[in-house]
Amino acid sequence: MTRTVPLGQPTVGEPELAAVAEVFASGWLSGAGPSCLAFEGEFAEVVGTQHALATANCGAALHLALVVLGAGPGDEVIVGDYTFPATGHSALWTGARPIFADVRPDIWSADPAAVEAQITPRTVGILAVDVFGQPADYDELRAIADRHGLWLVEDAACSAGATYRGRPAGSLADLATFSFHGRKGITAGEGGALVGDSGDLMDLARTLHTYGIAPAVTREGERTLPVPTFETVGYNYRLSDVQAGIMRAQLRRLPHLLAARTASAAAYAAGFGDLEQLTLPVALPDRTHPWQSYVLTLDPALDRGAVALALREQGVGCNFGTYASHVQPVYAAAAGRPLPACPVSADLFARHLAIPMHANLTTDDLEHVITTVRAVVGSDAVRR
Ligand SMILES: *Cc1c(COP(=O)(O)O)cnc(C)c1O
Repeated sequence: MTRTVPLGQPTVGEPELAAVAEVFASGWLSGAGPSCLAFEGEFAEVVGTQHALATANCGAALHLALVVLGAGPGDEVIVGDYTFPATGHSALWTGARPIFADVRPDIWSADPAAVEAQITPRTVGILAVDVFGQPADYDELRAIADRHGLWLVEDAACSAGATYRGRPAGSLADLATFSFHGRKGITAGEGGALVGDSGDLMDLARTLHTYGIAPAVTREGERTLPVPTFETVGYNYRLSDVQAGIMRAQLRRLPHLLAARTASAAAYAAGFGDLEQLTLPVALPDRTHPWQSYVLTLDPALDRGAVALALREQGVGCNFGTYASHVQPVYAAAAGRPLPACPVSADLFARHLAIPMHANLTTDDLEHVITTVRAVVGSDAVRR
């Protein structure tokens, strides 16, 4: 029987089950309760910010970030092009228009020069993406934002545990957002967080994430009967306390999970370094890569669909990388002007192939992936 190596896999077990049992015993299962508050304190410490707010997912955190920063109809937000739908969608949810900037060919995050070239009098902010977790160029982006009076948000969905010039991902912009979806480095199945240093912005986000009223936990133990009023339209963007319990256990595992992914990335680099059909992912020396995904760039002579099917047939999970946003019809319709071309991102969208990357890969798994990828990309059957 062929070995099957999945593309991604959460690392969960006894510690997470024990954490769930503890939350069950507490009786507070819904969101914004004691387990969420404890997780938020621990998470803020890990990402180096004053505040953290647990949310239902990263998309909710992105939406809250843009709302509290004041994005709305008529505004333009410059977004790194190569990303998941949540990033561009979050601008649309506020009524603002996402305008996409092309990305660096080596680390795939927004090219600062391309960002600056898209600034117009309508631009209000920059939404940079740490692609597959490696931080974008925050010193350069901060300088551009300051020069033009813009805010800066970090989509750190995949970045838990990453660093940039010695600073943790999450602390690199005015606000940052994380995802705890099952494909990310730490997970509660679904989940997310908004983090930042501004008490005012984070307080507003906290109110908005629970329908625009103060969370019930803030009324616990009162000697009167406080009744909230509705001052603003909010949402239910809460993480449940059950999920927060799982996240507290995941946070304690984070150093081990990062070490396991880093070792697998090193094994792939050694296993593929000599292949001219592949360009390997770059980890820049001034930042640490958390390896949410391991993504190969295939030579243009290879048929990616054929490579992917051959790998899957032999038990090697794989997929495309992420998305070029500027070619998606939903954004073109909303832009109100022709969206600029992003040729680098379009090329990555066509040639990227993600191969298995998670913290449970064994030496045998890695050997199977390396042997199979080497054989498939070297075979004439996958050439165009
Ligand atoms: C996964 C991901 C998201 C969305 O996360 P959810 O928690 O599923 O909303 C947003 N941005 C990027 C870059 C992602 O990779």
